[in-house]
Amino acid sequence: MAQHKTKCLIIGSGPAGYTAAIYASRANLDPILYQGMQPGGQLTTTTEVENFPGYPKGITGPELMDDLRKQAIRFNADIRTGMVVKVNFEKRPFIAELENGDTVEADTVIIATGATAKYLGLPDEDKYKGMGVSACATCDGFFYRKRTVAVVGGGDTACEEALYLSGIANKVYLIVRKPALRASKIMQKRVLEKENITVLFNCNTVGLFGEDAVEGAKIVENKGTENEQVFDIAIDGFFLAIGHKPNTEVFKPYIELDEAGFIITHNNTTATNIPGIFAAGDVADPRYRQGISAAGSGCRAAIDAERFLMEHEE
Ligand code: NDP
Repeated sequence: MAQHKTKCLIIGSGPAGYTAAIYASRANLDPILYQGMQPGGQLTTTTEVENFPGYPKGITGPELMDDLRKQAIRFNADIRTGMVVKVNFEKRPFIAELENGDTVEADTVIIATGATAKYLGLPDEDKYKGMGVSACATCDGFFYRKRTVAVVGGGDTACEEALYLSGIANKVYLIVRKPALRASKIMQKRVLEKENITVLFNCNTVGLFGEDAVEGAKIVENKGTENEQVFDIAIDGFFLAIGHKPNTEVFKPYIELDEAGFIITHNNTTATNIPGIFAAGDVADPRYRQGISAAGSGCRAAIDAERFLMEHEE
């Protein structure tokens, strides 16, 4: 079991983690970055990325992440594979323990472990992932120009995604399991007033169908009641917007989280409740969740870590 030491430990390898690694390396912090179970993060599950500035022709998610990783390596970031399974943030230096028993002693830590989109848990979601099933309208909506799509969920994200898609697709179904939307009143109003959005209240999706890609969804209305009805809707795209689960379980004993589990940052910086520990990307962002905003916060976290070290130099 090896023991490593670094001025800056970065946990997570999405756009936030890699960007933090680029900045921390160039600031001579000799960062160690651990990429977890999904090197490259959520963007590696998307196909074409068309909204990351700097790629006028678009780029695939995996290629973009590979470019960011190479850029970090160019400045000697030490990128390793491994899952941080336990931390001790009681005092500096902070300790992180890997699943193989290795430990890392770090003067600063940047948490960039991201968030995972929630899915309904239907086998068909796996079957059609990337072939009509998506959890990001901003990423994939464009591929459904003038088509028919469905969004699942009744919160602000679902309404926002439905409104976004209504500007691209011909028709949008919003599938809501309750008799009302949970979203803010203004979002509800916008959705309900939009001509090409049809809200299906009291409805649950129980399956998807289609030859090679999604061609429709099987819906149950008023499930478990005497008014239960089963019907199909014809759709080309099926978007999940039922929330994201931030990957913060390991940090829970030390780091202040909001009620949904996202890390709370302070004073318009990436600082967490523990001086010397910073958070970047989706793990601290229930709102924007874009590759570019994650990358931006990775840059901020590295600058915050560098300044912290300058102020605390022994
Ligand atoms: P929320 O947790 O607010 O909403 C999740 C929605 O998904 C709910 O309607 C919920 O239904 C539904 N849902 C959950 N599980 C299932 C399931 N298994 N089957 C069907 N439906 C399901 O998540 P959001 O991502 O919408 O929002 C997260 C936070 O971010 C919120 O605080 C939100 O206000 C904020 N936000 C703000 C925005 C803005 O201000 N512009 C934009 C986006 C997000 P039910 O209601 O029945 O529980």
